[in-house]
Formats: sequence, structure tokens, C-alpha cells
Amino acid sequence: MANLETFKSEATAWLEENCPASMRKHGGGADAEFTRKKRSGDSLLWLDRCAEKGWIAPSWPTEYGGGGLSTEEHVALVGIMKKMNIPAPLGGMSLTMIGPTLLELGTEEQKKEHLPGITSGNVHWCQGYSEPNAGSDLANLQTKAEDKGDHFIINGSKIWTSGAMHADWMFCLVRTDPNVQKQKGISFVLFPMTDPGVSLSPIKLISGQSPFCQVFFDNVRAEKSNLIGKVNEGWTVGKRLLQHERSSIGGGGSSRFGISMTLNDAAKKYRGDENGKIDDPLLKLELTRQDIDTQAFALTTKRITDETMSGVTPGFATSMLKYYGSELTKDSAEMMVSIMGPQGLGRDDDRDNFSDDERGSTRAWLFTKALTIAGGCSEVQLDIISKRILELPTG
Ligand SMILES: Cc1cc2nc3c(=O)[nH]c(=O)nc-3n(C[C@H](O)[C@H](O)[C@H](O)COP(=O)(O)OP(=O)(O)OC[C@H]3O[C@@H](n4cnc5c(N)ncnc54)[C@H](O)[C@@H]3O)c2cc1C
Repeated sequence: MANLETFKSEATAWLEENCPASMRKHGGGADAEFTRKKRSGDSLLWLDRCAEKGWIAPSWPTEYGGGGLSTEEHVALVGIMKKMNIPAPLGGMSLTMIGPTLLELGTEEQKKEHLPGITSGNVHWCQGYSEPNAGSDLANLQTKAEDKGDHFIINGSKIWTSGAMHADWMFCLVRTDPNVQKQKGISFVLFPMTDPGVSLSPIKLISGQSPFCQVFFDNVRAEKSNLIGKVNEGWTVGKRLLQHERSSIGGGGSSRFGISMTLNDAAKKYRGDENGKIDDPLLKLELTRQDIDTQAFALTTKRITDETMSGVTPGFATSMLKYYGSELTKDSAEMMVSIMGPQGLGRDDDRDNFSDDERGSTRAWLFTKALTIAGGCSEVQLDIISKRILELPTG
């Protein structure tokens, strides 16, 4: 315990000295998804300093560029950063999805080749899972990989690929055997997005942004050294990666979109009297319910994480966290815009009539609709919970 206290004071001192003042307004990680290429100034400086310290991936082993912290130290560090309003230097699927999967299931050569690119913030990954006819029914994927000895040649297409336009590498599920039960003919491969056979077509969203692409593969080459697990056994690797994804969506889904206001603050401002007192009993009931649900969810997440081996992402329980966490976050965003009334529907470019919080709430409300679909829709999580956790008979 004395060591943990020493760690806490050293970490606080290091953060005081190294986190640029301008970054200390993003507690919760607002900039965490930005790639190195999109950064400049203090955001880049913060990334570089953390990379040097090993704190882009604080608990990963030092030989791959991580910080080598114990689970307790990592938890303490996150708590200190939150208190100091300091963002994580990096987030996204490199750090939360492919990195942990490689740590668990990659060979030593694969870890040495790919993890330092993540811990330095230099290499960004995208996820090639979904296809036009393979979303919830992911095992139906048809993108084909032909075995050419020391490499595969890949043809087909993926859709809804987040951040494909900024990614350096893709982790991808491909069909290597079309003649067996569909889950059994899938492999998990990695290849660079610079391959001349990769082309992208951006997809525009309701918000006007375009964070997704459809990605086409025309004779793309993936080296056999970049096959994770065995040929035709990629479904197991792919499912484990989904558990890492689901735990990060469920637990981290409440990204704040730059909103500094809590639901209680908003209720006092938009629905309270001149002293901020709220008279509406139904609103008070709703606020209390949200608060209790949020705290109960945080405790459940902690209990489930504590019950698994320290620092390891839980298994099927991630479907519970993903289901409940994403529904709760969606519910909270709905409530925020409803409390704000017409001010909760701010156009992103209308700074004259809407505050940062109001425009942020509109963005959050629109974006949280996606949380109950991304990483597997809520109905699919309920299927997994009934089959794998409750062991109910399947139809
Ligand atoms: C924000 C976001 C980011 C994403 N990023 C990526 C990415 O980077 N890479 C990637 O590969 N994919 C990505 N996806 C795709 C995502 O994984 C799929 O959208 C998801 O798996 C659902 O597949 P689908 O869109 O084909 O919907 P469908 O499978 O067609 O499902 C549509 C609806 O049908 C219902 N449904 C489907 N199956 C069942 C069932 N068994 N029981 C009951 N109801 C059912 C549900 O209501 C479901 O919402 C992303 C999606 C979103 C929203």
C-alpha cells in the first residue's frame, strides 16, 4: 500500500509537469480518438510525452512500449487523471481492441511487430468485420481469402468501417473455407491499408459527418505471418476481440461530446425556478432513477471486473455491460435534450443561438443511437446473455 501511495504522488507530480495546461479541460478523453496525423500543438506534445513514458498503454508490458503498471497502479492513474481533468492520450480500437487481442492471442513476433506502433501512437487500426450481408449474422461473411503459400489474396468488401480513411492497418475476418459450417471457415488476418488493392468509399451520416467507409479489396495481400491464431480458427479470435470491444462500448460509452453540464445542472437551469429549485415531481423521479441506475451500473461493472482475473477483460459478461451501458447512455442523452427543450436541438454550426453544451447535447443524442448497434446490436447481446449466461434453451 505504501508503494501505491508513492506511485500516486509520483504520478501526480509527473502529470503536473508534463500535461500541457491547455489539455486539462478534457477529462474523460475528448481528444482520445484522434490519430497522430490529425494532431498538432499541445495535443501532439501530450501524445509524445505519454508515449515516451509508456502511458499510452500504461498496463502493457514495457518490452512493447507500455508502462508496465500493475492493475492497481493503472486504476489509480486513471482516477488521478480524471480528478485533474486530464484526457487519456489515446483511445480507439488500436488500444482497446486489436492491442489487447494481440497481447492475449498473438505470437511473440506479432506482438513485437505490431504493439510498439500502438504504444507510440504511430499506427492506427480499423476493424474489417461487417459486410453488407453480415452484421448481426457476422459468421455469414463472404470476403474471400485464398491461400497462396506464404500469403493470402483477399477479395470482397467490408462496410461501416470506422476510421478506415485514417487507418494504417486493418484487422479483418475473411473466409478461408466456404465448404464447412460457416463459423469454422473463417480466419483472422492483418494487412496494411496502403496495399494497392484497398479502396475506400466514405458513407455520410445523419449528423453530416462521415466517420465510416465501405472498403473494397481487389487482390489484397496479407502475409501468413500476420494470421492471428490458426487458419479457419479466426472465429474464436474474432469473438474475443468483440468482448474487448463490447466492454469498451458498455463501460466507456458515455463519452461527453464536450458537455460540461450534468443532467442535474441542466434540470436546474432549464426547468428550475430562479433559484434552480425543481418543482416537477416526475422530473425529480427521473433524475433520481438515472442517478441510481448509473451508480448501480458502475458498481456492477466493477464487481464483474473484480471477479475476473485482475486486468483481464471479462468473457460473455461483456454482453451484459455492453447492453446495459449503451442503453443507459442513450437514455441519459435522450433525457438531456428533453430537459433542454428546444435548446437541446442545436445545429452544430449555429453558435449564435446555441451554447457549446446545447450543441454537444444534440451531437450526443444523435450519436448515442449508434451505441446500441455498434459492436453488435442490443438484440444480439440479449441473445448471447440468454444462451451463454442464463443457459436458456435456444429456439
Ligand atoms: C457507430 C458504428 C460503428 C461501427 N463500426 C464498425 C467497424 O469499425 N467495423 C465493422 O466491421 N463494423 C462496424 N459497425 C457495424 C456494426 O457492427 C453493425 O452495424 C452491427 O453488427 C449490426 O449489423 P447491421 O448493421 O448489418 O444490422 P442488421 O444485422 O441488419 O440488424 C438490423 C436490426 O435487426 C434486428 N436484429 C438483427 N439480428 C437480430 C436477432 N438475432 N434478434 C433480434 N433482432 C435482430 C436488430 O434490431 C438490428 O438492429 C459499426 C456500426 C456503428 C453503428
